[in-house]
Amino acid sequence: MRKMKATRKVARRALLKIEGRAVEVSVRLNPRARRLIVKVHPSTGEISVIAPSQRALDRALDFAQGQSDWIATQLARVPAPVPLGLGAKLPIRGQDHVVREGESGRGAVWIEEGGVLRVSGAREHHSRRLLDFLKREARKALEARTLEYAARLGLKHKRITVRDPASRWGSCSAQRSLSFSWRLILAPVFVLDYVVAHEVAHMREMNHGPKFWRIVKDLVGDVRKPQKWLHDHGAALHRYAMKG
Ligand SMILES: [Zn+2]
Repeated sequence: MRKMKATRKVARRALLKIEGRAVEVSVRLNPRARRLIVKVHPSTGEISVIAPSQRALDRALDFAQGQSDWIATQLARVPAPVPLGLGAKLPIRGQDHVVREGESGRGAVWIEEGGVLRVSGAREHHSRRLLDFLKREARKALEARTLEYAARLGLKHKRITVRDPASRWGSCSAQRSLSFSWRLILAPVFVLDYVVAHEVAHMREMNHGPKFWRIVKDLVGDVRKPQKWLHDHGAALHRYAMKG
């Protein structure tokens, strides 16, 4: 499943000067656009210029440079990256958990009531421990859901891999190997459920036809809500990163 529906072919990448800083922009061609448009992604800060024609493409960078004040304002609003460490707020299954220090001897990372995530051990290991914990939790949740949905369809998957792809939340191969992003553990449960149902449904229908969507809807009911959530907030899940 692609992360952004409207991903167009990038015609070129270039650098703009925004407040004295070199900032990368991608220039895309979209014949359906009415005019040149500059976009700044609200959660990643990714800048793109959309050109309606090949001719407009040649003017795209000058056009974007002319919008540099507006771009700077938008960039200032992009939420900062969240390093995995003490004090970080992590939306595990969509519920905020604040990372606090835990005493040693109880394990590496554990969840406490009241939205607290404890991490123990030397500080330089916190980031790695938190990441390992999130990946483990993601795998558990993704495996449980995959088993459940596959059983409902009378199907069996081959294997599940959990990765950190830049442009997909999940995928399904013709050999029924499923792959998911660990970051789904930071989304509300209905979102993770939807992505799993989507990929499991591909084990039966390797397309996005009406039959496919009927299967997904049978598994999770509403598909619009999780799709909208991913569209609006999905990119923000990429803010969480290892320290350093
Ligand atoms: Zn799909």
